[in-house]
Amino acid sequence: MSEHLSIGAAIRVDAATKRFGSVTAVDAVSFEVQAGEFAVLLGPSGSGKTTILRMVAGLEAPTGGRIWLGDRDATDIAAHRRGVGYVFQRPSMFPNYTVRENIGWGLKLRHVPAAEIGRRVAQMMELVHLEGLEHRLSSQLSGGQAQRVVIARALAPDPPILLLDEPLSALDAKLRDELKDVIAEVQRRTHKTTLMVTHDQREALSLADTVIVMDAGRIAQLGSPTEVYRRPRDPFVAGFVGSTNLVPATVLAVLPDGQAEVRALGSTLHVPAPTAVRIGAPVVLSMRPDDLEVIDEQDRGRYQHVFEGRVRELVFIGDSLRLEVDVAGQVLRIHATGRWRFQLLNEQPETVLFATSEVVVLLASDSTEGEIRP
Ligand code: ATP
Repeated sequence: MSEHLSIGAAIRVDAATKRFGSVTAVDAVSFEVQAGEFAVLLGPSGSGKTTILRMVAGLEAPTGGRIWLGDRDATDIAAHRRGVGYVFQRPSMFPNYTVRENIGWGLKLRHVPAAEIGRRVAQMMELVHLEGLEHRLSSQLSGGQAQRVVIARALAPDPPILLLDEPLSALDAKLRDELKDVIAEVQRRTHKTTLMVTHDQREALSLADTVIVMDAGRIAQLGSPTEVYRRPRDPFVAGFVGSTNLVPATVLAVLPDGQAEVRALGSTLHVPAPTAVRIGAPVVLSMRPDDLEVIDEQDRGRYQHVFEGRVRELVFIGDSLRLEVDVAGQVLRIHATGRWRFQLLNEQPETVLFATSEVVVLLASDSTEGEIRP
């Protein structure tokens, strides 16, 4: 076991690698999930999320590294002996069984007495809000209901660990929101150690205690939702977890208080800086469209960073007005809210004043020029 991994975690992925021929799907990944924690693997398609989940479940054997579940090295233990419940992306009810039979299936396999199965199924139906539907077949359920059955089925044998592989992705927006709430409630009430895969940052941020951001088979960053959102480690995380404007900048001075003076957007800014920044180094500033606030001229003095931008585009989308503005030749996106969205639409101004105090300095890499639109 690697030294940095602690005893007592419910799931420990220890330098796990998975190769499929010449493709390295997962590259020496290590992390742990504590008992009762809700962790989410978040990343773009092909970043290795599902492969990690399948290795934890025992559906895929690692090429290297170990999988620990509790205090057991589970790497060589068969899937059905690992004590995990697994929910696949598409609702996968057994078609010729009723809801009740589906949920009780795992208990029947374990020869649990019928009365106990009845009690447990009723409990699970209540947990996922399916009361009254016990005699329906899968063809008589909506996608969201079928997925609830599958979650109830995974939980019925009371496994200590619940693994969810994109459980919401096959559903339309409204059902997705409903089932997201059900998953949050199930986790809160059962305290199951939960590891979920998603490529949807909103799902990850709203459900997770810990977000594990994946990029090309490796962990790009691991942290709480607010950490990965507010303190992204690099331009990839900044752009993938929420949308952002990435602005090239140059470091003019490194100040003793953890701040740096940087030149960007025709201005000189004082911003918190990573310890690795050097004078003269090119860096990238991440400024989220949601953190850029349109302001009145008389409020200028209340903000740390104020810019003036030439308006290129205004798009009203209801809860916000999306602006594209040009500042010193750099195009930035701003999400204006509240009264501003109507005022700007009516006035169609040539320029706007906007401000922010949320500027994050990221170390530049070749792929970071310009904007990222997830
Ligand atoms: P998605 O969201 O699209 O499912 P993911 O992040 O879950 O993506 P994985 O499904 O884990 O990614 O795949 C990681 C890489 O491994 C991809 O390049 C994929 O093509 C490859 N891969 C996964 N399973 C296999 C397999 N059985 N055989 C060959 N290559 C595979």
